[in-house]
Amino acid sequence: MKLYNIKENDQQVSFAQAVRQGLGRNQGLFFPDSLPVFEDVDKLLSEDFVTRSTRILSELIGDELSAEQVNAMVDAAFQFPAPIKQVKDGTYALELFHGPTLAFKDFGGRFMAQSLAAVSDGGKITILTATSGDTGAAVAHAFYGMDNIDVVILYPKGKISPLQEKLFCTLGKNIHTVAIDGDFDACQALVKQAFDDEALRKEIGLNSANSINISRLMAQICYYFEAVSQLSEAERENLVVSVPSGNFGNLTAGLLAKAMGLPIKRFIAATNVNDTVPRYLQSGQWQPKPTIATTSNAMDVSQPNNWPRIEELCKTKGWSLDMLGKGAVTDEQSAHAVKELNQLNYLCEPHGAIAYRVLSEQLQEGETGLFLCTAHPAKFKEVVDDILSIDMGLPAPLAKHAQMELLSSEMDDDFSELKSLLRNVANQ
Ligand SMILES: *Cc1c(COP(=O)(O)O)cnc(C)c1O
Repeated sequence: MKLYNIKENDQQVSFAQAVRQGLGRNQGLFFPDSLPVFEDVDKLLSEDFVTRSTRILSELIGDELSAEQVNAMVDAAFQFPAPIKQVKDGTYALELFHGPTLAFKDFGGRFMAQSLAAVSDGGKITILTATSGDTGAAVAHAFYGMDNIDVVILYPKGKISPLQEKLFCTLGKNIHTVAIDGDFDACQALVKQAFDDEALRKEIGLNSANSINISRLMAQICYYFEAVSQLSEAERENLVVSVPSGNFGNLTAGLLAKAMGLPIKRFIAATNVNDTVPRYLQSGQWQPKPTIATTSNAMDVSQPNNWPRIEELCKTKGWSLDMLGKGAVTDEQSAHAVKELNQLNYLCEPHGAIAYRVLSEQLQEGETGLFLCTAHPAKFKEVVDDILSIDMGLPAPLAKHAQMELLSSEMDDDFSELKSLLRNVANQ
């Protein structure tokens, strides 16, 4: 597989380099030099999730890894289903939240962990990341128990929900969670300081495993194929897919799937009031505003970092950005959509409900609609309970972790302390 840096096209890297480095020079994102196009999509769709995903990812990765290797990675990463559920005539929910941390980030996070392990030279790797909740949980579970890889996760002490904390701070083994006496920005600043320290970076094999890693998007392509495989042939004809978007990685993966031959008529970019992209698609002006806190907080992003990949893909395919539907939804409107779905007997949290709302507004006669449900309703229990006046039970994975003992250490907002902690972890 060859990839190039979108900002500095002369920087070309292999899959292994792209996975290890994450970002290119000048903070440029890596993008595949060419994409395989499947001519026999119907046959591909008739295969099971793991077999099909192995084929898609092998074609993408090329001869850098054997099909057997890719198969083992997919098998380890995709250990949970991505079912579609009909909510009403012609409208389906794609449930991406059946993984260990109950959000779609499990797909990308787990495949990234497998990818890093596959391309490593056997030396020690230390993953360092800061989290305000969700990504940390996905990273912790994805790397849990892997040989030669330690994970250190910093989070702001007392500033994430107790349940969120239980979900990733109870694992132990190679997962080290540290509650920092400071806010999320302080955690991020500490991480940045560590990456700026060249000597430390080499010494402990520091890696960020961050959200723009290309391996994440590659994994996400596979669940779009999985969704379409569950529809009848008639329903595949005029399919519209609505994606609740924050950093726009999920939508990028969907568009990549389309570019590889998956029959999707159009996509809808659905956001909350952090609507930089819908406004841009309307006016052609890129004008981010300060980020606003909403009930769909995983989408509270005003400078979406995957957007340049969407522009690049459209450019290379000769697609106009006009083919993207768009819509921005307020908290009040998303609460209304949660209620509407509940009346249809479908329990949904605000992120998925936003995708549903914009889809409902824009779906036309004769089209089939699919909206992505990116998190389990229990992950946003407080919000959903409040909207519907219910007291939802906890699903098994959350209930299990809620009982477990917290294993985090505490640390001052102090780089020298972090440095010695990292050395201790790496030299154990
Ligand atoms: C991360 C996240 C999103 C946004 O996905 P992007 O790929 O960043 O657009 C949406 N919903 C949930 C629940 C998330 O965790």
